[in-house]
Amino acid sequence: MKRLIATVSALIILYISLFSPTSSQATSHQTIQVIAVENFYGELVKMLGGPYVSVISILSNPNQDPHLLEASPKIARTYASAQLLVYNGANYNPWLPRLLSSSRKNRKPHTEIVAADLVGKKPGDNPHLWYLPATMPAVARAVSAFLVQTDPAHKADYAVRLTRFIDSIKPIDQKIAELRQYYQGEPVTATESVFGYMAEAIGLTMHNKRFQLAAMNETEPSAADVAAFEHDLRTRQVRVLIYNNQASDMSTQRMLKIAQQSHVPIVHVTETEPDGKTYHQWMLEQLNALQRALEGQVQ
Ligand SMILES: [Zn+2]
Repeated sequence: MKRLIATVSALIILYISLFSPTSSQATSHQTIQVIAVENFYGELVKMLGGPYVSVISILSNPNQDPHLLEASPKIARTYASAQLLVYNGANYNPWLPRLLSSSRKNRKPHTEIVAADLVGKKPGDNPHLWYLPATMPAVARAVSAFLVQTDPAHKADYAVRLTRFIDSIKPIDQKIAELRQYYQGEPVTATESVFGYMAEAIGLTMHNKRFQLAAMNETEPSAADVAAFEHDLRTRQVRVLIYNNQASDMSTQRMLKIAQQSHVPIVHVTETEPDGKTYHQWMLEQLNALQRALEGQVQ
């Protein structure tokens, strides 16, 4: 039923806002037209392409659950003009293959960069690949190679921009290494799997994975999985609850409440990049919040 939230009309509004004066200004004939389905990949392309690219992202509303989004025919039409399409893959957007095949007929040939393919993930794996440390550098290199090939005149500029991006995310790896040193093996839990790869990189022991899968797929968690989760919180078997603000329902909100009552520190995370933040700011803020929570600070 939650699908109703992501109505077609909401998407048309989104579509209109994507073509606000700022973006249409940038759509000159010289720029390379890019659609990055998820907004963090969109930001990446903007950083790598600077003034030579025009980028549109579809998933950028932090109040919407991206797993449940449906694409409108209007969005399908915007795909027709893109020279590059960047998206997550691993079945993160089940609507995308349908949309691509329906708009394929009228489209000029374009390049697709699929994050999942670059890091060896497939449907059924945890789809939140932008929390996997290897993903952004891999997507950045692929996007940069495409830009150099399409627009060799600006090759040197693209190289500088790629180096700058790779440097900008180094503090994330440093923070992960630092957390790993202190907190490897510590038990934590989460309402949904969005932070899974990051928790794995830090070496945290993740509890209640079946509950997280149910929350992601909008299915009912089993009574046994709910009971195990509640027990973990009430008896403080876990150091932290990681809470996905963008994939919440009655069962996840219930866990949030129990965590609060049981004084288990909570870390709030999101699926899409918040407005006004860069990828590395977003990730570092979440990692810093996790650090405070692991130190026992209740938020
Ligand atoms: Zn998710």
